[in-house]
Amino acid sequence: MRHAFGLILASFVAAVAIAGVWYLTASPHASQAASQAAAQAAAAKPPEPPAPAGTKLAGRDDVEVTAALPAKPAAPPAPAAQPPACANPNALGVSRVVEVDTSGGPGFGFENFKQFDFLTDKEVVLTFDDGPWPANTPAVLKALDEECTKAVFFPIGKHATYHPEILKQVLAAGHTVGAHTWSHANLNGKKMTEQQAIDEVEKGFSAIKMALGADPAPFFRFPQLQHNPSTVAYLGTRNVAIFSCDVDSFDFRRDNNPEKEINTVMTKLDKLGKGIILMHDFQKHTAEALPALLQRLKAGGYKIVQMKAKTTLQTLPDYDAALTKELKLPPTLSGRPVSSVVQTVSK
Ligand SMILES: [Zn+2]
Repeated sequence: MRHAFGLILASFVAAVAIAGVWYLTASPHASQAASQAAAQAAAAKPPEPPAPAGTKLAGRDDVEVTAALPAKPAAPPAPAAQPPACANPNALGVSRVVEVDTSGGPGFGFENFKQFDFLTDKEVVLTFDDGPWPANTPAVLKALDEECTKAVFFPIGKHATYHPEILKQVLAAGHTVGAHTWSHANLNGKKMTEQQAIDEVEKGFSAIKMALGADPAPFFRFPQLQHNPSTVAYLGTRNVAIFSCDVDSFDFRRDNNPEKEINTVMTKLDKLGKGIILMHDFQKHTAEALPALLQRLKAGGYKIVQMKAKTTLQTLPDYDAALTKELKLPPTLSGRPVSSVVQTVSK
């Protein structure tokens, strides 16, 4: 009898103990208490002070890059270019900003693509190819800046690796930066294979990204406007918009000079009434002609439309890695924006 009573007592004690442990650890009460404690701890933590303008990006980048242990570190977001307000009250300016959804690879410029007639009368898009190049690209940037206006740039990948600091200035000034192949090869040439053409496209974009320290716009222009049909189809699968033009300045011709260039552009433009103008920031004469050309556009009642992309282009990791290896760059530093490495802390 005593034995049986002892067993019952032991069972009762064990049951109470099990119930107690369950209550403290697994019951809804316990999880509620834990979440309340977490909420209180979070509430007790003072909120982070808002970062001053311009420092948030750098701070986040720094943390991200130094902790970049994953095989594929996330690309830093494009710097939010905030150029100062226009100092020139009579500037040409920007009358309209358009955002392009590049899904499927739409084509622009009526010399080759007539599907998307988005410009209205007297509207103009300025585009510059083949940079970045010392002296000429900075002169083009200065002329655009003095008129507080914006353009689309199609740099050559190789040139971007020679002068990344100049290409960074283009992006920092608020312009749109696409790509124009790695080596300016004719993608429609007889000896060009389909794969070689793809390599030219992808390596070009990877080089631009590396120079910018940010993803480029999914905007592409074929060298010499030589549209290889298979590459056009490929760009469609990559959701990259293709830019031809409406007005070719022919500024690359040997007999070009600033006066001739201005007349070529204005004569064609006056005839068409609007359009995408193709110029080269690589060309000295364009750099020299641009201040007067912008004045002529303004005097003629033309308005500048800035084209931006809805999304940026994700470069292909294999091409990024191959380029890093080819250029003998430390992989941990490639693509890192200047602002994430060097910060002004006092002035
Ligand atoms: Zn070109």
